[in-house]
Amino acid sequence: MMRGMLAGSQTTLRNSATVTGIGVHSGSPVTLTLHPAEANTGIVFLRCGPDGQRDRELRADYRAVTATEFATVLGDDNGPAVSTTEHVLAALHALGIDNVTVEVDGPEVPIMDGSAEPFVAAIDLAGIAPLAAPRRCIKVLKPVRVGKNGSYAELRPHGRGLRIEAEIEFDHPLIGHQTFVIDVEPDSFRRELARARTFGFMRDVAKLWSAGYALGASFENTVVVAESRVLNAEGVRFSDEFVRHKAVDAIGDLALAGAPLIGAYRTVRGGHKLNHAMVTALMADRSAWDYVEMPEAGRRVRGHAEPAGGFAAPAYGPDVS
Ligand SMILES: [Zn+2]
Repeated sequence: MMRGMLAGSQTTLRNSATVTGIGVHSGSPVTLTLHPAEANTGIVFLRCGPDGQRDRELRADYRAVTATEFATVLGDDNGPAVSTTEHVLAALHALGIDNVTVEVDGPEVPIMDGSAEPFVAAIDLAGIAPLAAPRRCIKVLKPVRVGKNGSYAELRPHGRGLRIEAEIEFDHPLIGHQTFVIDVEPDSFRRELARARTFGFMRDVAKLWSAGYALGASFENTVVVAESRVLNAEGVRFSDEFVRHKAVDAIGDLALAGAPLIGAYRTVRGGHKLNHAMVTALMADRSAWDYVEMPEAGRRVRGHAEPAGGFAAPAYGPDVS
């Protein structure tokens, strides 16, 4: 009941909630606090300045992306400010949180256990509050595709909400070819995706370390894949945890469009770079998308009528039942 009532309104958090951990790349301790924000604020990162330096505010927006190697980094004219934004953004996007300030006191969002679940738990702790403003979504109107050579992404129209179709192929006996398709809603995200962890290959570790990445990576926050087995004592959480995690990353990166997406996203052998290229290409083609308010309350968007019921049950209602 609450769900239907809230589906068309913007949301924020009822209270603040804090998580602490380390950055997977920096290895440094960091505290992240989710704060309520007013309607039409969107998702904003507040990077606290160390030792009296000024704080920096960064809208979670594809135009603020400064790097996509191994993580999605946001910054501004002064350089990168917050790294590894994707898992907290995935949790916020999937649970339908429109307005929030994400305060971090270090250069990187804490990796926690490598999944989005600790951020889901933080959102649950804070609670979700409706705001008296209609939710605005980005509706994909025609297919847009980026990539080449077997690594590509595509966004195409979809009846309602966000669908993710992820496909990976690794030349490794434990992973190989995996596909995962999901209609992203709070319940399905919690059940199918939130627990899927970051993964990495033992063979890449030395190279990553020497380049200054993955300095905080450990069995506590990464599924570590060796030649023929997973080295973590507890094994994997899903047999296809790898492709599920790619879906989590995609949801987080797609949040950088700045509003919930209504469309189907297919990513084949992709990653942060491809996700970012996809959002950039979509937003650049003004004929490929439009803003729609939710719910449409019986009115049609001119020029592209939906099949009956197309908007009847928006997928972004926060689940507070
Ligand atoms: Zn990830």
